Amino acid sequence: MQSETPTIPSFMEWKEVTSLVGSIRTRSLVARPRTIEQCREVLAYCRQVGITICARGAGRGYGDLALNDGHALLDMSAMNRIIEFDEEAGQITVESGMRLIDIYQAVHHDLLTLPASPTESHSSVAGAICANVNGKDAWHHGSFARQIVRLTLLLANGETLTIDRSHELFRAVVGGIGLLGIILDATLQLKPIPSPFVEINRLPAPNVDALLETMAQVEKSHDAAVVWVDAYARGRKTGRSVIHAAKWIEHHASESDRRQILEAGYERLEKHRQFGLALHEKFGPILSLILYAQRPVMNLFNRLYYLGCRLALLTGYSSNTELFLRFGFEASFTVPPAHLVCGPRGYTVQLTFPRSSAREAIVELLGICRSSPCPPVTTILRAHKADECLISFSEDGYSLNFEFHPKTQHETTSRQAVDRLIDATVRRGGKIHLAKDQVLTSEQFYRVYPRYQELLAIKRRLDPDGLFTSDLARRVGIDTVLNKQLPE
Ligand SMILES: Cc1cc2nc3c(=O)[nH]c(=O)nc-3n(C[C@H](O)[C@H](O)[C@H](O)COP(=O)(O)OP(=O)(O)OC[C@H]3O[C@@H](n4cnc5c(N)ncnc54)[C@H](O)[C@@H]3O)c2cc1C
Repeated sequence: MQSETPTIPSFMEWKEVTSLVGSIRTRSLVARPRTIEQCREVLAYCRQVGITICARGAGRGYGDLALNDGHALLDMSAMNRIIEFDEEAGQITVESGMRLIDIYQAVHHDLLTLPASPTESHSSVAGAICANVNGKDAWHHGSFARQIVRLTLLLANGETLTIDRSHELFRAVVGGIGLLGIILDATLQLKPIPSPFVEINRLPAPNVDALLETMAQVEKSHDAAVVWVDAYARGRKTGRSVIHAAKWIEHHASESDRRQILEAGYERLEKHRQFGLALHEKFGPILSLILYAQRPVMNLFNRLYYLGCRLALLTGYSSNTELFLRFGFEASFTVPPAHLVCGPRGYTVQLTFPRSSAREAIVELLGICRSSPCPPVTTILRAHKADECLISFSEDGYSLNFEFHPKTQHETTSRQAVDRLIDATVRRGGKIHLAKDQVLTSEQFYRVYPRYQELLAIKRRLDPDGLFTSDLARRVGIDTVLNKQLPE
């Protein structure tokens, strides 16, 4: 008797899917399930026809961690409901496709916030869990891992498992880039705040020593911070930067007033996005042309920005009060126009380094950037705290996030500079954030994350046929099918 070809579920179709900035193009069999049963249907179908699955949240990672060329993508964005909100305990249980900005919309007026939220507020809860993301408050609240009370995982065999913080799998699933199963829902611990407003202080630092001294103070006095670094400054000015530090403040308003204020805040963010898009539509080619002369343009822009912030400090205009929404997330509303202007060749690299050798690391990494034919367009520094997940980017130290937009003729030399950045980071005991990566080789990955073997051992137990994978997992060699030689 002839075996029947399995029928493709009606809600699955082949589609082109690109990375966020469009530099990677793939074709996948995409499903957008609305129920657990539909997730199980996809699992069963893919197992039968022998293709792999990559879960996808909002697709807001920079590289290929939520892509699966030639295989299936399980787009979880339609599973985005609030299951339960326990206001007293400050805990919210949501389906895994819910976006972080939607959680803010649901709870922020109740004077609650979700720590460790990344700048990309459109990230989904599961995406934040799997990449164990961090926020501008990372040195206080750690990575996203610390906010998770429990989660539900759908395993390759179709069974579900509840994993709380004490479960042996917690540290493997969190930060585990979706390799162990499909996260269906999660309960998150929210944090009380005095109001939705923060006081922002912009603190210019003329060099790396001033930067680290100011950060040491800010880490005691403020709740969140992000540092703009001038990667073009050299000599005694190396590490010239402006620290944007925020602390929650009291602001008396009734709940209905707060709702109105926040509603206006969300509208403002959306207008900001529309403005960026309109600007791009009108002046896109001119902006791209200006950016083509990257080195002199960015050098000039950085000098002016630093001087502007110094002037603001001298004239008493370096502080203001604004909604946390703006401080925390406005940049994520700027991203689409920014990438339209910069073009699809760009990529981001975020590297950590330990606190103990922070000065030397910053000087070395910025030196490597300056030697590149196309230094980074933006350079951002953040403070972090240690994290115990198997594949964990955070540590007790700082990170530098570089955004590169190399010209075609400089792609190879620019990539060589990035390799030198990675080597320097690994030599210093640092890590590379997988959520932003599209360049790591397997050899580099094994050096950065030696505990990948523990993750693979667990994966072999839970997903022996390697059903769950991604383009990133294949690229960096963290795939049970590719790693059959590893000891049991
Ligand atoms: C402008 C910008 C700013 C950013 N800022 C920060 C920042 O401040 N800090 C930071 O840490 N990161 C930051 N990021 C990175 C971003 O927050 C992370 O990549 C995050 O993981 C994206 O979430 P997502 O829902 O889009 O996940 P996706 O990109 O869709 O997926 C991420 C990973 O999660 C897995 N996954 C998704 N859903 C599921 C599921 N239901 N079950 C199992 N696995 C799943 C995917 O397979 C993949 O491995 C930024 C990105 C951008 C574009």
